[in-house]
Parts: sequence; structure tokens; C-alpha cells
Amino acid sequence: MKKKIIIVGGGIAGLSAGIYGSLAGYEVEVYEKNPVAGGQCMGWNRKGCHIDNCIHWLTGTRKGSALRKVWETVGALEENTQFADCDVFYTRIYNEQRITLWKDLDRTQAELIDLSPEDTEEIKKFIQHVRYASECEMPAEKPMEAMGIRDYIRMGASMANMPKVMKEYGSIDLEELAHRFHHPALQKLFMDYMPKEYVASSFLVSYATIASGNGEIPKGGSLAMTNRMIDRLRSLGGKLYCNTPVSRILIEHKTAVGIELADGRRVMSDYVVSSVDTMEMFSRLIGEKYMNKKWRSCYENSDAYPLFSGFQAAFAADCSAYEDKGTVFFDCQPFTAAGQQAARMSVKSFEYEPSFAPEGKTVLQVNLIQFDADFLYWKQLSKDAYKEHKQVLVRIIEERLYQQFPTLKGHMELLDCWTPLTYERYCNSYHGAYMSFITKKGIKSFRVKGTVKGIKNLYIGSQWTMAPGGLPVAVTSGKFAIWWITRKDR
Ligand SMILES: Cc1cc2nc3c(=O)[nH]c(=O)nc-3n(C[C@H](O)[C@H](O)[C@H](O)COP(=O)(O)OP(=O)(O)OC[C@H]3O[C@@H](n4cnc5c(N)ncnc54)[C@H](O)[C@@H]3O)c2cc1C
Repeated sequence: MKKKIIIVGGGIAGLSAGIYGSLAGYEVEVYEKNPVAGGQCMGWNRKGCHIDNCIHWLTGTRKGSALRKVWETVGALEENTQFADCDVFYTRIYNEQRITLWKDLDRTQAELIDLSPEDTEEIKKFIQHVRYASECEMPAEKPMEAMGIRDYIRMGASMANMPKVMKEYGSIDLEELAHRFHHPALQKLFMDYMPKEYVASSFLVSYATIASGNGEIPKGGSLAMTNRMIDRLRSLGGKLYCNTPVSRILIEHKTAVGIELADGRRVMSDYVVSSVDTMEMFSRLIGEKYMNKKWRSCYENSDAYPLFSGFQAAFAADCSAYEDKGTVFFDCQPFTAAGQQAARMSVKSFEYEPSFAPEGKTVLQVNLIQFDADFLYWKQLSKDAYKEHKQVLVRIIEERLYQQFPTLKGHMELLDCWTPLTYERYCNSYHGAYMSFITKKGIKSFRVKGTVKGIKNLYIGSQWTMAPGGLPVAVTSGKFAIWWITRKDR
């Protein structure tokens, strides 16, 4: 008889665990609280348009890489998957001038030097190190804790230039990187895309991923990719139960033996994989007494290990009224969002995906990054005040967009807006966070094995197992949870 694995949570990590579990010959059941699986890798329709909540880039699209093989195994990518035709990472508007980080690094270098000749040396050094960083690959074959000396030697050889990146950019944050440049536009450019607290090497790796063609956007976006994974799970015989919240992981004799559903039913299994937000797991499913010092010290110190979410608004705009491509950052008249002052905004155009809007229209999306304190601000508002603040912010966003892009006036319509509390409600995400802990300079990057001390047969497959989270961590952590189970079963 087949052994049975229950997976709690049907996001990318849970689906990955389900697929790898089925491939390894286990009976698999995935329990998801929402009507559809996918978690944060999601999209939804409004007023004839499609809103994509997730993929700005998917690390691991380069053919032949170990991570690409994982994406293909779980059905997220196929041999012939088409990718969006984007040639930019992002753009910053400064005094009406556009400064772009292109996929083409030579073009970026030439344009940045043209803009600021006195920064030539720093620009060349930056671009050279972005080229080095394109070697960076996360382990996708087996968990790092299971890697032997040979694996490390192979990994070291394939990433021979990464130590140079870490030496130059691994101990400064983005704010310090920005201040290595003299030109104010470059200073702004380097603090735009990620929270300025991020260690600078993360930013170089992200840009390198995109520039080297290893971080494309699959056509159809997040929802289409999730649906391919659901199809793959079902085609392998894995069962997916949606609308089925789990209230508890059953533990007997220090061993996970199954789950209790919110309606009181119990389902027994040989193994349980927790693919929910880890705070949901500790606080509700197993109990905080199982949270060890490492987890606790991160959750309790949001200065050292910040989390972020976003207030977002999506609009349908007439294509004729908006010309920019990709994500554009610009300074704007100051405003207050969730108690925090801001004077900068970004807008992303989905012009690369015409199927997201009726002909002649495109979807524009604004994301205001929100940290732990902002989440708490939203949380303490009454229902009416919450609604009101959302409306106020949408009005502010519209005004700032019209000031920067006057042609949009009269050619743009709100589709939807959502807050950090939306992520909490929809995914049970702690503080609405949609990535794991940020790695700050001088702070050890967070990583755990994916087991829980004191409970046998329980594994964690979730983006929370390794900073900074994201889709590649989610998909590999699901695979690795099954890796540990198969190893246990020899
Ligand atoms: C705006 C935005 C942009 C992003 N951009 C990118 C990007 O460009 N690239 C990238 O790599 N990543 C990106 N991410 C991050 C990426 O979406 C996440 O890292 C990833 O989807 C997390 O997957 P997960 O399975 O670990 O967690 P989740 O997606 O949170 O899945 C957990 C699942 O568990 C379910 N659940 C929770 N509690 C219970 C319960 N008690 N019972 C049953 N089910 C439960 C939830 O409903 C959810 O479906 C982005 C995220 C957002 C929101």
C-alpha cells in the first residue's frame, strides 16, 4: 500500500510538494483554504481586465539550469513556453529624463555613462559585477543541508565569480550602493526597485537574473502558470481539496499523524508537509511552543528581519494615453500612506501581455511598499476607516499619476485596490508579507532545514524556509520536503 502525504496549503510550494510526492510514488492530498489553489501566485479578473498579482520575473527560466528542470517537472514551464517580450528591468524618471536598467547591459552602461561621466568607474564596476552575478544559482537538486563536499566543489566552480560580488556588494545595503554614485538620478535609481534596506548583492543578482535571460515572465502570467501546475498535480493522481481550511496538524507521540479540518473532520496520513505561512503553522496549526529560537528571534526583531507587503491599485488605461513600458519610478508630491510619508511612486504597465485587457487598453498597476508598522496601522483601523483610507489612497495615486502623465486624465479607470490585510485574509500571511525575511547588511541571511524540532514526520515546504523567499524558494522547498521524506523511506 502506498504511504500517504498530506500537504497543508496549495500555493506554489504546496503544489510542488504534491507533484514531487506523486512522482515519488506516494498518495498525495493537498488541502487549500481558498476556492482556488495558487496562494500568492494569483491573478483575477475585473471589468474585462486581468490583474496579475505576482510574477515580475521568474528566476530559473534559462534552459538547462537545475531550477528550470524543477519548473518543467512541476509543469510550470514547458519545453516551448513563450515568454513576454520585455527588454527592461525598470526605469526611473528624473527631471523628465528617463534612466533605464536595460536587459542589455552594454546599453545600460553606455547610457548611464552618458548621463554621468564622472561616475564612469563606478558604473563599469557595477555592470561588471552584474555580469559576474549571472552565475548565481540557487541549489535546486537537493537541500543544502544534504549537500556533500563534491556538491559544494561543483557549485563553487560554477559560481567562481560570485565571491567577487559578495566582497564588493555583500556588506553594503542599497542606500550605500546608491551613494557610491555622484549623479542624483543614479542615487535614486539604485534605491527604487527593492527596499533600500536590502543587501546590495541581492539587487545585483536580481538584475543579473533578468539581464542573462534567467528571469523571464511566462506568457499568461501568474494564474496561467499556477493552473499548469494544478493540471500537472491532477494528471499524476494527486488530489487537491479547495475550500478546505485546515485548523490543526494532529500530533501523537511527538509525530505528525494527520490533520483536523475546520469542519471538524480528521484525515490521517504518514507524513504532513506544511506549505502555509510559517507563522500560521506555528500559531495555529501546531502551537508556538514548537517555534525555536531561530524563528522567534526573526519574528520578534523586525528591525533586523523586516517583512514587506504592499498597497496596490490596478487601473485600465487607454494605450494611446500611456507610452512607457515596464515599471517606471518617479518622484511625486509627498503623501501619507498608512501613517508613513512617501514622495515617490512606481507604476507598472502590462503592455507586454495584451490578453490582460480589451483591445486598445492596458493594465497599469501601482504598488506602495508597506512594512510591518504599516501593516499594524491598517490593522488597527475600524472597518469604515479602513475603507476610507483605501479610497483616499486611490485618489492620491490617481492625482500623482495625472501630474506625472497628464495624458492619462480621462483615460484611466480603477479596477481594484488591495492592502497588506488582503494578503493576510487571503493567504493567512503574517503581516501581509508576500516574501520572506529581508536580508539586511551585516545580518545573517535566514535559512532553515524544513523540519520542526520535536515533531517527527512533519516537514516545511514553503518560501519561508529561505530568505528572501519568492517563487524559486517556494518551488524548491516543496521539492525538498519530499526529498527528506523519500530519504527517510530509503
Ligand atoms: C505582488 C507580488 C509580487 C510578487 N512578485 C514575485 C516575483 O516577481 N518573483 C517571485 O519569485 N516571487 C514573487 N512574489 C512572491 C511569490 O508570490 C511567493 O513567494 C510565493 O507565491 C509563495 O508561495 P508559497 O506556496 O510558499 O506561499 P503562499 O502562496 O502563501 O501559499 C500558502 C497557501 O496556503 C493556504 N493556506 C494558508 N492557511 C491555510 C490553512 N489553515 N488551511 C489550508 N490552506 C491554508 C493559502 O491560502 C495559500 O494558498 C510576489 C508576490 C506578490 C504578492
